[in-house]
Amino acid sequence: MNSLERVRLSLGTAIKIGLSEGRLDVPPTTAFFMTFHEGKCTANCAFCPQARESTSKSDRLSRIAWPDFPLSEVMNQKQRLRTFQRACLQCLNYPNVDDDAVEIVRQIRQVYDGAISVCIHPVAKASMENMREAGATDIGIALDACTAGLFDKVKGRKRKTRYSWESHMKSLNAALDVFGRGHVTTHLIIGLGETEAEAAKMVLQLYSMDIRVGLFAFTSVEGTSLENEPPPSLSSYRRLQAIRYLASNRLISEDDLRFNPDGRVHLSGSISGIRESLSSGEPFMTSGCPGCNRPYYNERPRGPMYNYPRPLTKEEIQEAIEETKLL
Ligand code: SF4
Repeated sequence: MNSLERVRLSLGTAIKIGLSEGRLDVPPTTAFFMTFHEGKCTANCAFCPQARESTSKSDRLSRIAWPDFPLSEVMNQKQRLRTFQRACLQCLNYPNVDDDAVEIVRQIRQVYDGAISVCIHPVAKASMENMREAGATDIGIALDACTAGLFDKVKGRKRKTRYSWESHMKSLNAALDVFGRGHVTTHLIIGLGETEAEAAKMVLQLYSMDIRVGLFAFTSVEGTSLENEPPPSLSSYRRLQAIRYLASNRLISEDDLRFNPDGRVHLSGSISGIRESLSSGEPFMTSGCPGCNRPYYNERPRGPMYNYPRPLTKEEIQEAIEETKLL
C-alpha cells in the first residue's frame, strides 16, 4: 500500500469531520493527521506505541485511537476541516517520510487556509523548506525528554536509534531559520524520570531560544517498554505548567526559580503576583502550538485532568492553583 493513499486521523478528528461515529466530550480544535505506514516506526521511543519494538496496536498514539482513511476521502471533508483552528501532521519515521509529509501538507493546504503544523523528527533543512513551501506554517520537533541523559535512555542511543540530543537541538535551531521564531515547538514529557529542577530549567532555556513547549504528562500505554510506569504527580505537573506559562509570557527567568533539597521547584516573587498570573486558568490548559488542545491525550475524561482541553471553570482554576502548592 502506497503510504500516500491513506492517512490516519485522531478518533476525535475523524468524528468531528463525520468519518467516524462517536460522542465528543470536548472536540479537538486542531485536526490531527498522522502519516500512514504499513508496519512500525523505525525509531524506538520507550513510551510510544508506534515504536519499533512496541507490541501495542498500530493505530495508537499515546492512549488515543487513530483510524486510517483514504486521503482523498479526508480531503473531501473541506467544509468540516475549515472549522478547525489548526491542522497538525504527526510523522512516523520511515524512508522518504519527509516527501510524504510535503505531499500531505500540499493537499491539506488546497482545502484548508488555517495554520498547519508538521510534527516530525530531525530532517534535512531542505525538507523543512519544502514543507514550508507546500504550506506548513509551524514545525514541531519533539525532544520529549528534559535532559540529554534521559533522551538517550528513552529514545536515543540506549534505544538503539540514531536519534541524539545534539541532532535534535541542531534541528530545532535549523527549524528556527526556516519557520521563524514563534513557529517552532517541541514536546516535553513530564514523568520520564527528570527532576522538577531539570524540567523547569529546560522549559526556560527553550523559551529563551523562542521555542514553544508542548507539555505532556507521561501516559503508560500497553505494549510499550514503559507500560508499567506511573503518571507524574499532579501537583508536580501543575507547578511545571505554571512555570511553562510564566516563561512563555516572559514573566519569569531562571533567577526566579528556587529549589527544595528534593528538587521541588518554587518561585521567588510576590504571592499575589503569581496568583494573579495563574488566575485565568490558561496555564493549566493544553500547551504547544496555538489552537492545539489534544483532548484526553494524557488522561481519561473522568480525570485527573493534566492538560485541560477547554477553558477551566472557576472551581477548577482554584483547585489547579492549590494543586501547584506554589502559593
Ligand atoms: S503542539 Fe500540537 S499542533 Fe503543535 S506539533 Fe505538537 S501536537 Fe502538533
